[in-house]
Amino acid sequence: MNTDILIVGGDGDLALRKLYPSLYYLTLNGCMPENTKIFGMARSAREHDAFVAKVKEWLVENTGALYDDVVWEKFAPCLNYVQGDSTDPASLERIKKEHFTDGASLIVYLAVPPSIFGKICTALEAANMAGENTRIVVEKPLGNSKETFLAIDQEFSRVFKENQIFRIDHYLGKESVQNLLALRFANDIFEPIWNHRHIDHIQITVSETVGCGNRWDFYEETGAIRDMVQNHLLQVLCLVCMEPPASLDADCVRAEKLKILKCLKPIDASNVKDSTVRGQYRAGVVGVEQVPGYLEEEESQGRASDVETYVGIKAEIENFRWSGTPVYLRTGKRLDKRHGEIVIQFKQNNTRLFRDQLTDNCANQLVIHLQPDEGIRIRMKNKKAGLDARVPLIDRTLDLSFCETAKAKRHDAYSRLLFDVIRNDQTLFVSEPEVEAAWDWIDTMRAAWASEEHKTVGYAAGSEGPEESDEFMARDGRRWHNGH
Ligand code: NAP
Repeated sequence: MNTDILIVGGDGDLALRKLYPSLYYLTLNGCMPENTKIFGMARSAREHDAFVAKVKEWLVENTGALYDDVVWEKFAPCLNYVQGDSTDPASLERIKKEHFTDGASLIVYLAVPPSIFGKICTALEAANMAGENTRIVVEKPLGNSKETFLAIDQEFSRVFKENQIFRIDHYLGKESVQNLLALRFANDIFEPIWNHRHIDHIQITVSETVGCGNRWDFYEETGAIRDMVQNHLLQVLCLVCMEPPASLDADCVRAEKLKILKCLKPIDASNVKDSTVRGQYRAGVVGVEQVPGYLEEEESQGRASDVETYVGIKAEIENFRWSGTPVYLRTGKRLDKRHGEIVIQFKQNNTRLFRDQLTDNCANQLVIHLQPDEGIRIRMKNKKAGLDARVPLIDRTLDLSFCETAKAKRHDAYSRLLFDVIRNDQTLFVSEPEVEAAWDWIDTMRAAWASEEHKTVGYAAGSEGPEESDEFMARDGRRWHNGH
């Protein structure tokens, strides 16, 4: 069946930087089905040629060696600009009549603010564009609480069935995140030790060097917890900690992730101060650049704020596999490096052998790097070459770097996810109950922050985060892993 892709908000930042490039990569990889048409839709008038030229210019400037004139010649004819208001059924009907392929399936990507999602659903229905051959793709922010999420979701579910709604979390499209399934379930050595008996704790870190400069107002409504933890970090936690699914089908994988979310111990007034640390960046130096603090960002216009730009959380999963093994989450803006990783910290056995050289801090570690480089490293103990058979031990790293894979990489997270939308595979998309359960956990924590007046602490831009975050780990006799 032919496919028409309608990108609502087709002239915006998300469409230009992520969606057209990812569709170009599909063409590059020979994965774009024949006769697919792509329609960028916005209200502003724009000449077709100018639109196509803008997409080309972005690809040439930003995709490096992956830009290829031959591929472009194949991709360009798929692109169309359509002017219209997506909340107006008459606009949609006109576009359908003038441009869409008879009998084709329709993918509608909503790259517009969530405030108009409901109106667009209503308009699609009124224009007879919401039948069973339509799939709708949406992206965060999906509300800013369980209540607001449910309100948005009601608008979708009124018009579409759950199997037509694709909720994108682009972290799930990352190679290394997908590789988690292969690492855990295609390598028999890990499953027997993947539990609280052998793993001391897990850390999931996503740090950014950018600040909130031109997104201050958005960030005020969001903070690190809603911008990063509710979606990306919790999704990664689920994939690391879930039980083996019965199959890799969407229903099976999503059901296992949901069980983990439901087993998260609530962080409420009784434990919020021991389980979370909130930070806000102050002025400092990132790289060589002197940058202002969050409150001095131009867009803040001198307003006061206690929004967290950093958060550290001790998450506890109350089930048989993980009881007693916490998962520490941390994310922040204006930190010393852009970096994402999962650290599986194994326990140190209390062995008599090598006792003098094996301390608590040198147990085996499995580190899965998410960004900027992707790869897996295992910290091992090895004997230093020499005459003495027993000492000294040295740390060595088994390095399964994906650099070679990365060099050969011809796609990004969005292209993989869009490919799945085209193939109608929901495995890497987030289900409604998952989003709801994630909001439940986050809402409880935020309510406790308010009731217990759990305020942010300052940290210098360009640092590793607040000192209180190190103290928070030290209280448990642990410390944050500091990258590679
Ligand atoms: P943007 O640059 O402001 O683009 C929005 C686009 O929507 C514009 O092309 C606008 O053009 C169009 N538009 C607005 N109302 C419309 C309507 N009624 N009918 C048709 N087109 C309409 O915003 P963005 O950064 O691309 O973000 C879009 C959404 O994605 C936001 O909710 C954002 O939070 C989310 N998001 C963005 C990113 C990102 O990297 N940018 C990442 C994740 C999520 P006209 O004014 O001409 O209609």
